Amino acid sequence: MSTRYPGPSRIHLSAFPPKERWNDWTELDSQAWPQRKERHYQLVPTTCFNCESACGLLAYIDKETGKIQKFEGNPENPGSRGRNCAKGPATLNQVTDPDRILYPLKRVGRRGEGNWERVTWDQVLDDLAARIRKAIVEDRKGEIMYHVGRPGEDGFTERILAAWGVDGHNSHTNICSSGAREGYQLWMGLDRPSPDHANAKVILLISAHLESGHYFNPHAQRIIDGKTNGAKLIVMDTRLSNTATHADYYIAPYPGSEAAILLATANYLIQNNLYNREFVRKWWNWQEYLKRESGVRSQKSEEPPATSQVGKGGLPPLTFEDFDQELKALYAEYTFEFAAQESGVDAKTLEEIAQLVATAGTQLSSHNWRSVTSGNSHGWSVARCLFMLNCLMGAVATEGGVFPNAWNKFVPKPIHTPPHPKMWGEINWPQEFPLSMHEMSFLLPHLLKEGRGKLDTYFTRVYNPVWTNPDGFSWIEALSDESLIGCHAALTPVWSETAYFADYVLPMGLGPERHDIHSYETHDSQWLGFRQPVMRAARQRNGEDVHDTREVNPGEVWEENEFWMELTWRIDRDGSLGIRQFVESKKKPGTRLSVDEYYGWIFENSLPGLPEKAAAEGLTPLEFMRRYGSYEIKKKTGALYDENVAAAELDDQREDDFGRVFTRAAKPASPNVVPLPGPDGDADGRRLVGINVDGEIKRGFPTPSGKLEFFSQTLVDWGWDEYAIPTYIRGHIHPQNLEADQTILISTFRLPIQIHTRSANAKWLNEIAHTNPLWLHTSHAAKLGVRTGDLVRVETEIGYFVVRAWVTEGIKPGIVACSHHMGRWKIHETGQKQMMATVKLDHTGDRWGLKREAGVGPYESSDKDTLRIWWNDVGVHQNLTFPVHPDPISGMHCWHQAVRVRKADPTDNYGDIHVDTAKSHEVYKKWLAQTRPAQKYSPNGERRPYWMLRPLKPAREFYKLPTETT
Ligand code: SF4
Repeated sequence: MSTRYPGPSRIHLSAFPPKERWNDWTELDSQAWPQRKERHYQLVPTTCFNCESACGLLAYIDKETGKIQKFEGNPENPGSRGRNCAKGPATLNQVTDPDRILYPLKRVGRRGEGNWERVTWDQVLDDLAARIRKAIVEDRKGEIMYHVGRPGEDGFTERILAAWGVDGHNSHTNICSSGAREGYQLWMGLDRPSPDHANAKVILLISAHLESGHYFNPHAQRIIDGKTNGAKLIVMDTRLSNTATHADYYIAPYPGSEAAILLATANYLIQNNLYNREFVRKWWNWQEYLKRESGVRSQKSEEPPATSQVGKGGLPPLTFEDFDQELKALYAEYTFEFAAQESGVDAKTLEEIAQLVATAGTQLSSHNWRSVTSGNSHGWSVARCLFMLNCLMGAVATEGGVFPNAWNKFVPKPIHTPPHPKMWGEINWPQEFPLSMHEMSFLLPHLLKEGRGKLDTYFTRVYNPVWTNPDGFSWIEALSDESLIGCHAALTPVWSETAYFADYVLPMGLGPERHDIHSYETHDSQWLGFRQPVMRAARQRNGEDVHDTREVNPGEVWEENEFWMELTWRIDRDGSLGIRQFVESKKKPGTRLSVDEYYGWIFENSLPGLPEKAAAEGLTPLEFMRRYGSYEIKKKTGALYDENVAAAELDDQREDDFGRVFTRAAKPASPNVVPLPGPDGDADGRRLVGINVDGEIKRGFPTPSGKLEFFSQTLVDWGWDEYAIPTYIRGHIHPQNLEADQTILISTFRLPIQIHTRSANAKWLNEIAHTNPLWLHTSHAAKLGVRTGDLVRVETEIGYFVVRAWVTEGIKPGIVACSHHMGRWKIHETGQKQMMATVKLDHTGDRWGLKREAGVGPYESSDKDTLRIWWNDVGVHQNLTFPVHPDPISGMHCWHQAVRVRKADPTDNYGDIHVDTAKSHEVYKKWLAQTRPAQKYSPNGERRPYWMLRPLKPAREFYKLPTETT
């Protein structure tokens, strides 16, 4: 008999309460000891909202008190399998946080002055609905913007905006992950990797995935599974992370040199014929590359590649042998010696790493998300070079390899699908960045200041740009200017630096107080998680009617689903604008959709197998999801690109010179068909359906070629010819671009126990981590005459900050690092008292200063633990001193900073910050000048390639660039 928990966790039985007993789970009361007092709990699942992983949580609701006693892992969640990081259980602190916002607030006095009055939700909704309706009716839809930090859901709010006809979705992605996304999208048409670490032979990681990676806990446990199964771990990280300490090979390259190492590894595989030739022959778009090269060379009257045969349609010779020769020539310059010179890592070690990669076969898993791809200019090329190793080894969508993320996700069809907005959001998608992976969110203050638009109604939602983004003082300037932003509504569970500059502060639920669904690429499978208000689910399970989540949440804390549906309803009460229909009940037309109907419809109609599985337990699909919190759709997805296209999808098909097959048959409705947007179709209106590989029509990849794109015609077409194939690009902090007294600041590393703005209200986490000293190598510190604890001044292009030094051997000599999780501040009494220092802001014109007036300390509250706060220091807000650095291709903010570090002046105080926002605007303009705008470079008169991913795609006709007369 198995001793394993039967659910997805497969953890030993004793680790979790079996789901059959979740209605009445008994534990002894630890506080009653030595008395053996039983406590009875109802266990209700939800998901954690403290990072993007959305791990399963189980709320232990005390049957006697009706209160949540604790949160533990949900063994039924296939992604997290019952495990959490420290931030999961700390959700309890956030629920009971004595400083949390409980009621809707409206500003009194000037914006930013810090005075608030309590208002009703009705007042808020009527005001916002009237503003938005007016803007829609007056055709000012471009003045409505929703700006999201952590989405935590799959598309709900995008559909709300689409229902309004507004292309106003803005995100945090360009300060987070656009760099990596660009690199992956160029190869495979999808923008994220889904590594199968658990089954890998070799795991290659750039940065700290064990303690702070993307899909942190779900991936970390699978990296350890892989290691337990014998996988070798290679880690590149300039800073000695916890992940690095688990590595078989750990190297600390010069920041930005990673692509040189990866290409040296690729070169080793290529020159020694250690790559998977059959996979490359079948699945790379090498024919396109050779054709183009042949054309270029004949124009230059050079010899074309060696001729073996003439291809179809009079194409130049296209044999794989030719390509193999080309490949060998193309990458020959990337020797280990070259990589050693760029990275500072010795050539012998790099060669050993390459030899290890060569042993992986198709079981090479790799991952890079933020780190260098978000730090260095052209950081996207690092992800491109990393995935090239997978593409060389054939380790794509294999057991132990890397999958395209969309194949390991499941996005169910919703009850209503509004059409694509009929407009283009100019201010989110400026023409200078036609290839950006997401909205140019962090440039918003500069774009507004330049007069490129203004906002009537601006929502920030779980987003704190004043603190999280670079150049926060420019954000304060824009947010304070009512002629630029008419009304700012901050939807947030906690106080933030940005909320101080809002007109409305609207309290939103935490993970156990709101509904969302999500599906993430944690491993090779497909699953759906359900976040829910646990008190609502518990009461409904006990037979009570709950119609509105505010009935069960603390104070008047709401949830966004109900908020957006109600706001949408009020924008178009009579339905005359055609908006109301998208939040209308199907069961009771003329009334607003409820969350029960919304999710009930999805679970009944869009999740294959769920209705049957639920019925087997006598439950409706919604009851099943409320009971268990997740559903596994597929255990494995496999190599979807290699599937044959069904005969029913082939009608009057046509094949082009590169084997792309076009059909007149309509797209099947099946949600599991690989998306293949590719080009628009052929001239006769057929759509691309697959790719002919050795006589069989395969699904292929969702790229324009249908194959893995070693060669990017898209980059060539949009003016970036020099980057047509994976290439090493020296970035903005390469030594050749630094002055003699400059060094590099790595400002992006995460701490495993904090999460941006949201964890400042978690006392357990705050006690563990509450400051962010500057990591400085021993040799570097000796040169500066600095010891641990000394104050140092870090000067950026636009100002400086003063922080304490931490002298360590755990960083590459000459490089400094400071975690971005700290340095929270408040300018008024209102705020998170455990983790926000009280500061004074000063400014004269463009010159801004921030001075710390007091750190934190014990205080009286409803939680007696706040009297036990022993720490005073909460770190320094370094991001304020960073100008914007938009990468000209991906649009990613390039976080690495060229800085000067020196001992602080005698007059400097800890936490001092000075910035000149006029200088920051100059830096913005300097980076903008590096772009290749669509207006000049677009090959087809459109704003961006239609095949590329874009949240909330507008209708196709609005991709057209404006002409002078329009
Ligand atoms: S990794 Fe930690 S913070 Fe992220 S969802 Fe899981 S438990 Fe929550």
